[in-house]
Amino acid sequence: MTSPAAPVRVRIAPSPTGEPHVGTAYIALFNYLFAKKNNGTFILRIEDTDATRSTPEFERKVLDALKWCGLEWSEGPDIGGPYGPYRQSDRKDIYRPYVEKIVEAGHGFRCFCTPERLEQMREGQRAAGKPPKYDGLCLSLSAEEVTTRVASGEPHVVRMKIPTEGSCKFTDGVYGDVEIPWDAVDMQVLLKADGMPTYHMANVVDDHLMKITHVARGEEWLASVPKHILIYRYLGLEPPVFMHLSLMRNADKSKLSKRKNPTSISYYSALGYLPEALMNFLGLFFIQIAEGEELLTMDELAAKFDPENLSKAGAIFDIQKLDWLNGRWIREKLSDEDFRRRVIEWAMENSRLTEGLKLSQSRISKLGELPDLAGFLLKSDLGLEPAHFAKVKSSPEELVEIFSEVQPALEKIVEWDVASIEAELRAVADRLGKKLKVVVAPLFVAVSGSSRSLPLFDSMAVLGRSVVRQRLKVAGQVVASMAGSGK
Ligand code: GLU
Repeated sequence: MTSPAAPVRVRIAPSPTGEPHVGTAYIALFNYLFAKKNNGTFILRIEDTDATRSTPEFERKVLDALKWCGLEWSEGPDIGGPYGPYRQSDRKDIYRPYVEKIVEAGHGFRCFCTPERLEQMREGQRAAGKPPKYDGLCLSLSAEEVTTRVASGEPHVVRMKIPTEGSCKFTDGVYGDVEIPWDAVDMQVLLKADGMPTYHMANVVDDHLMKITHVARGEEWLASVPKHILIYRYLGLEPPVFMHLSLMRNADKSKLSKRKNPTSISYYSALGYLPEALMNFLGLFFIQIAEGEELLTMDELAAKFDPENLSKAGAIFDIQKLDWLNGRWIREKLSDEDFRRRVIEWAMENSRLTEGLKLSQSRISKLGELPDLAGFLLKSDLGLEPAHFAKVKSSPEELVEIFSEVQPALEKIVEWDVASIEAELRAVADRLGKKLKVVVAPLFVAVSGSSRSLPLFDSMAVLGRSVVRQRLKVAGQVVASMAGSGK
């Protein structure tokens, strides 16, 4: 007798290691619609096993961004639920018994190789033109030796064993039948030296404990499925259904990356895209678009949602189409009152309006000067041209040098606030051997479009890192064109 199918449970499992990405919204939306279509449950789990890159600021931003998108979850770190906690760093003790079970059954082994040895090994493999992979040195340690070395407190990790021949066959909801030779699969670390599980271990254990029935995620995880299937098998568990969605791409088919185009959800919200329009735009990738209406609400998207016919070709992030849909949402879907409310909410985002007014009060003699002075905090495009830099004294070549130093320096900031922005820019000035004022003069123009405006560090903090990143990129291109044309 077949048992009734388990209720559908899906999840989005972001790692809070950077600005929330539109790709995360894309995968989250798929899962959200999948749950909605199947009367299932949509869960949010924070995957912060990478303690060096995960930050509370990014976790808060991920939650805020997904909420802004309208993708409400029924269980998550902020609201709890029956299978919590929903943040992996709070679940550390849950994983160890599973790792021990794998080791005791002879499917895992302790590895004492030092980072230096592993690096040497990889270098040798690279030189021989082979993909880097653990060579299995610690597989041959005797049980006594392992016991002694563990007892003496020698740092070690736990790795999983991989079959030496054959291949892993599985069916993916998008890719169909997939076969990956075991030879191409690394003896993955399951437990790190500090006792934290790796992504693979924690992900499988959590999907099991949280009763996830379908794992829908980005195609970059397809190659990890053999490891995951093996972990399920080693633990005597049934794997969920896997669906690997093709990544979003730029119009030229390259991977969507922040170096080319803004990818942060916060960038799109700052510019005044409506969450409904962004979800509408992303949701069109998950339905069969017959002729006709493309302006769809979340409920309409859920009704038309069709996970059976997804394309492997990649979803093209076509900004013009997003602009077109956003315009239609503004014009056709918002009442006068909705529109007013949305504009005010948008202006208040990140306290832009209140902070902007606070910074402006001591700098104006008439209220009518406000739009010119502080309008840059709300603008979507500054329309920057070489003429904007006319009052900046540095040569175009010096400007190129300043921008190319400033951009990567700001990327290093962990907590995006006035103090860290100032500290980074002072460090840049020191490195370049220039006065701070020389470095900030072109940045004023880049960020505000004018050489006379509000205090720079405060403005950058209010604008947020994704808008600043884009403005500096545009300014970098303008000064490069000036240097190139000898202006
Ligand atoms: N933490 C992973 C990510 O951020 C999740 C992958 C998965 O859904 O299994 O991409």
